[in-house]
Amino acid sequence: MSSSPSYQGRHRVPGRHRAPRRGPRIPAGFRGGFVLPTAAAAALVVTTTGATVAESSPVHLDLAGTQAKSRAQSAALAEFDRVEATQQRELQVTTAESRAVEAQRIARSAERAAGAKKKVAAAAIAKAEAKRKNAEKWLMPIKGAVFTSGFGWRWGRMHQGDDFGTPVGTPLHAMSTGTIVFAGVQGGYGNKVEIEYWDGTVSVYGHMNSISVKEGDKVAPGDLVGTSGNTGHSTGPHLHLEIHPEGGAAIDPAPWLKDHGLQ
Ligand SMILES: [Zn+2]
Repeated sequence: MSSSPSYQGRHRVPGRHRAPRRGPRIPAGFRGGFVLPTAAAAALVVTTTGATVAESSPVHLDLAGTQAKSRAQSAALAEFDRVEATQQRELQVTTAESRAVEAQRIARSAERAAGAKKKVAAAAIAKAEAKRKNAEKWLMPIKGAVFTSGFGWRWGRMHQGDDFGTPVGTPLHAMSTGTIVFAGVQGGYGNKVEIEYWDGTVSVYGHMNSISVKEGDKVAPGDLVGTSGNTGHSTGPHLHLEIHPEGGAAIDPAPWLKDHGLQ
């Protein structure tokens, strides 16, 4: 695109961007030029030369050597000070307000984060609690057991547990979470499994037909440990169940089962 003659012509005008003449003397504080920071004062734009620099400014101070102009300068300075002071106060208030708002925002954000953290922790606790409850629940070794003989003296000797009549081959389950501490044949018990549970209680299953665990195995509530039978000193297919709190002497299983929500 070629330059138009008028465009070039404008640039050929000498001193087009210089001040046409020197202005009056300006007070020291006025030197270097300044811009009043409010909209009202924005029009008052002065340089050391006294020339206007902001062509859009609606008011130009032409300070060409009269006393009136000196008074106008003082008035302008006073106005400048007043506006500046007002702005400074406003700025301080605004800064304080925005600090307060920011502090509130941070506090709310921290609250939300803490709330979320609490929820996660509560969920984890609930989950752990549910897991623990599940691990510590108690079940009967057999389903549909028929009580046939109780704990106590029987035919001149101590019967250490409860008997439950059940067909040979009925699945036998761990009563809770525990460890197999004995699995094998033992005298009158025939095939016998002992489980030590999480609370120290030991259960004994006697006269079993088959054993599906070995010593040291970990079991969960309901895990299969074998099947019921008629082995050892037994007069008919049944489960002989003993309960030994803390692994000590056998107790009457009936009240213990009741205490554990069984039977
Ligand atoms: Zn028995």
